[in-house]
Amino acid sequence: MNAFEFVAVLREHGVTLLPGPGGRLTVRGPKQVLTRDVKAAIDRHEHRILAALEREYQGTPGPCIRCGRAARIPGAERLHDWNLICGDCATPDDVAEGCVPAEVTVRRWAEA
Ligand SMILES: [Zn+2]
Repeated sequence: MNAFEFVAVLREHGVTLLPGPGGRLTVRGPKQVLTRDVKAAIDRHEHRILAALEREYQGTPGPCIRCGRAARIPGAERLHDWNLICGDCATPDDVAEGCVPAEVTVRRWAEA
């Protein structure tokens, strides 16, 4: 199993993987999935997982803060705190709170 497949399997089981501060991997998920053995495997392959995530995020504004998948345009939204969410994770509450389509913020950056 390569790093991409490992990430896919973890996601299928409700695990969120995100690049975190200090170049470390942030892992969230159900306790029954993140057993000691699974956590040890994640630690052992942390650098390969981070590299796989970086490849996935290439050409996108970055990761979805909620699910860890690439926040692809169209569909991605910027929250007030500038975090990204993907189209699958955006809720009516996010829209009510004034999230902005990520392509708009990219355009503003390009024009600035
Ligand atoms: Zn998402």
